[in-house]
Amino acid sequence: MKMLSTSNVEETIELGIKLGRMLFPGAIVTLNGDLGAGKTTFTKGIAKGLDIERVVSSPTFTIMKVYEGRLNLYHMDVYRLEGIGYDYDLEEYLYGDGVSVVEWSENIKNSLEGYLRIDITIKDGNRKFVIDSDDARYNEILEKL
Ligand code: ADP
Ligand code: MG
Repeated sequence: MKMLSTSNVEETIELGIKLGRMLFPGAIVTLNGDLGAGKTTFTKGIAKGLDIERVVSSPTFTIMKVYEGRLNLYHMDVYRLEGIGYDYDLEEYLYGDGVSVVEWSENIKNSLEGYLRIDITIKDGNRKFVIDSDDARYNEILEKL
C-alpha cells in the first residue's frame, strides 16, 4: 500500500504519466472517489504516459471510450452500471491487450480480478491517493510511483 498526495492538477497529471509509463498490456487500474475527486484528471495523465495525443474526456455517458496509443487505453466510467450486463462487452476489453482504467469500479468489482486499486479523496484542498493491489504484477509499479 502506498499513499501519495498532489496539491494541483499538474501534479495529478504528472503522477498519472508516471503510472502510464509503467503499465503493461492487460493492466487494469480502478479509480474510486467522489465526483470531482480527480479520477478523470488522473486518467488524462495515464493517457499521456501511454503516448496518447487525443484529449481524454469523461466517458460517463458512453460507459467507455477507446484511445489509441503505445498501448490502447480503455477508459470506462461504470457509474451507471450495476455489474457487467449482457449489453456490454466490457470484459473483452478488461482482459484485452490494452490498459483499462475504470472509474467507479465498485459497481463492477465482482467482475474484476488482479488490478491496481487507487482511491482518491480530497483533504485540506489536496488530493490523497491510496494505491494498493493484491496482485504481484503491480507491486514493482507501486514501489516506483
Ligand atoms: P472525477 O473524474 O473524479 O469526477 P475530475 O478529474 O473530472 O474528477 O475533476 C476534478 C476537478 O478537481 C477538476 O475540476 C480539477 O480542476 C480540480 N482539481 C483541483 N485540484 C486537483 C488536484 N490536485 N488533482 C486533480 N484535480 C484537481
Ligand atoms: Mg470522471
